[in-house]
Amino acid sequence: MADPLPLNTPGAPGPRHRDAIEQIKQALGDKGWSQDPSVLAPLLVDTRDYYHGKAAILARPETTEQVAEVLKICHEAGIPVTPQGGNTSRVGSATPDESGAQVLLSLARMNRVLEIDPVDYTMTVEAGCVLQDVQNKAAAADRLFPLSLGAEGSCMIGGNIASNAGGINVLRYGNTRDLVLGLEVVTADGQIWNGLRRLRKDNTGYDLKHLFIGSEGTLGVITKAVLKLFPLPKEKATALCALRDLDACLELLTRARAASGDALSSFELLAGITLNFAYRHIDTAKRALGEEYDWQVLLEFSGLEAGDMMNQAMETLLEQAFEDGLVIDAVIAQSEQQRADIWFLREAIVEAQLKEGASIKHDVSVPVSRVPEFIRRSNAALEEMIEGVRPYPFGHVGDGNIHYNVSPPVGASDAEFVAWKERINETVHRITADLEGSISAEHGVGQLKRDELPLYKSALELEMMRKVKQALDPIGLMNPGKVLKDG
Ligand SMILES: Cc1cc2nc3c(=O)[nH]c(=O)nc-3n(C[C@H](O)[C@H](O)[C@H](O)COP(=O)(O)OP(=O)(O)OC[C@H]3O[C@@H](n4cnc5c(N)ncnc54)[C@H](O)[C@@H]3O)c2cc1C
Repeated sequence: MADPLPLNTPGAPGPRHRDAIEQIKQALGDKGWSQDPSVLAPLLVDTRDYYHGKAAILARPETTEQVAEVLKICHEAGIPVTPQGGNTSRVGSATPDESGAQVLLSLARMNRVLEIDPVDYTMTVEAGCVLQDVQNKAAAADRLFPLSLGAEGSCMIGGNIASNAGGINVLRYGNTRDLVLGLEVVTADGQIWNGLRRLRKDNTGYDLKHLFIGSEGTLGVITKAVLKLFPLPKEKATALCALRDLDACLELLTRARAASGDALSSFELLAGITLNFAYRHIDTAKRALGEEYDWQVLLEFSGLEAGDMMNQAMETLLEQAFEDGLVIDAVIAQSEQQRADIWFLREAIVEAQLKEGASIKHDVSVPVSRVPEFIRRSNAALEEMIEGVRPYPFGHVGDGNIHYNVSPPVGASDAEFVAWKERINETVHRITADLEGSISAEHGVGQLKRDELPLYKSALELEMMRKVKQALDPIGLMNPGKVLKDG
């Protein structure tokens, strides 16, 4: 076992590094690697264009054994490895550093669905399967794999697991952590751990898979997974409604869970300003409600029976909520196209906010009951800081997860606004912590929030995290500099 290379020393990497890269090429064969700058370029920058890296080589293994071989070679030579799936991370977790010495390990060629077991309600997949393909293959077998998020056309299941992704169905089905029964992992020193169990109950000591779920590639490489499947919903009732005020969202959420027999699968809060961004900037975004309203909610019931039970439950819920003054306007989708149009509004926000100009983003969670308080306090604190600032909170409020994003006052310069970033982040995160929340609800830590972590986790918690890292990756070769600063 070698010490890590002195990566920041001029002249490094040296001959040992070059030999190791040659060994990797041999182990993977011609199709299994690339050093072509045009192939590497898009993989060396994150989706938000915040982080830019370099890599000595792109390794594209096709099998678990090849992943193990690459990690063994890197371990011997002390070369750090950045695992990458679809490279959709929102926190710079899949971008290598700028040394040019790291191996960028793409799982993209490991994209086979190995088995679907309708009796066990499980699906065994390789880590490079694109999430949408996983959903489609499950649906073709009359089963549901419920993880769903904006990047599903390109993110990969290994990346989802390593990020413990959330998305729009967490309320009913949980985060990725709740959807994984077993994992196969290649350890930092190149050993293969076969933990591909499909058991619903396994009480044999520490549940090691959970260490790798959400570890952002810092502990090992996930190569295969056994995923949990569910009955495929046969009926969906989808509505967009305008709320009396922000507090009404909690009351509506409680009622919606009861009215649907806990078949509420999504409950997305949308500040009116976010929808206005979508209507203004995205041609295909169709106005769903006639007027502008400050607070709107997109909610969806997913029923297991074909028919219109869910639709009826939605109508009853909204009629009653309307009578009680909780909801002031609403539309229930009458066709699959209308449903898609409503969901499109939610998804269009990401692109619309880019077109609106600079924005400062937060992916936070608080206990569900404190969401209105969080939004009110944050709005007030930011307004005090910058007059006319435009917060536009939206997101998975049924899970207490708010994407609390902030645009500059109308007419203000983007550059001047962005200079406030640190103070705005600190203010929003301080309020989050004060309400017993988390500064990263679903996007992870990566590089973006790494340096803030010590402010919000106890010394003991950080120490335990470091010990886990030390135990599984003693020379710190797995995705260094992500999650833990000194990891
Ligand atoms: C438009 C958009 C919308 C999004 N919406 C949501 C949302 O609603 N909810 C949500 O939770 N997230 C959301 N995200 C973030 C999303 O969850 C993550 O980007 C995604 O899960 C990462 O998958 P990936 O394959 O792209 O992984 P990458 O970005 O390639 O990697 C992410 C991390 O996982 C590690 N990694 C990747 N593959 C492996 C592997 N096989 N083994 C070990 N480590 C690995 C990487 O090193 C990195 O640390 C969104 C992202 C975008 C771009």
